[in-house]
Amino acid sequence: MPVISANLQAVRLRLAAAEQQAGRPAGSVALLAVSKTFPPHAVREAFDAGQRAFGENYVQEGVDKIAALAALRAELEWHFIGPLQSNKTRTVAEQFDWVHSVDRLRIAERLSAQRPASLAPLQVCLQVNISGEASKSGVAPADVLPLARAIAGLPNLTLRGLMAIPEPSDDPVAQRRPFAALRALLDTLRREGLALDTLSMGMSADLEAAIAEGATIVRVGTAIFGARPPARP
Ligand SMILES: *Cc1c(COP(=O)(O)O)cnc(C)c1O
Repeated sequence: MPVISANLQAVRLRLAAAEQQAGRPAGSVALLAVSKTFPPHAVREAFDAGQRAFGENYVQEGVDKIAALAALRAELEWHFIGPLQSNKTRTVAEQFDWVHSVDRLRIAERLSAQRPASLAPLQVCLQVNISGEASKSGVAPADVLPLARAIAGLPNLTLRGLMAIPEPSDDPVAQRRPFAALRALLDTLRREGLALDTLSMGMSADLEAAIAEGATIVRVGTAIFGARPPARP
């Protein structure tokens, strides 16, 4: 069996085991395959093994891949999960189905204004700086509620929930803490009347901890496609 297909199968088993362990319904966690740095044929291989949702971090790389796989566009779901600058919002609004990394109103306003009327609303998550690291992107937890209210009012976006990339940890107990904090924040927003259903959290190394704390989308790269070259500067 080709490597990507075998890896995907192994990740699906991890997801199913984690759902069961957490007492959550089978199939309640969606798998986003993070294909950044991997070529279109790797996405094609995952597609042939049944995967439909893919995540990209870099705008140009993402749109090049979307174009290379244009024949599959109607069957694929493309998620933008990387840092987003104002000058790239139009491309993202025109090409992607989801954005997980919205962390300021100006970016959300541009995405809404630039979303083509012919497309369904762009599905968005707010990225939260849940570990409180100065260097990380994401909105501070204390600022999430007003930002979520403002974004929920934009016409061409559907605010779905929250996303976080906690500080890595090898300790399963420590891994759960930031995920629990993100879930608590989502619960707060719901109590405030926002109709949200998505917690985008958990990656190759910590998806079990994220699922235990209520993740609805896990974003998995390495465990599906293999190791990446070191991150770009
Ligand atoms: C790269 C990346 C992932 C995937 O990470 P892995 O550890 O390779 O599974 C998930 N989310 C975001 C935002 C990423 O940039």
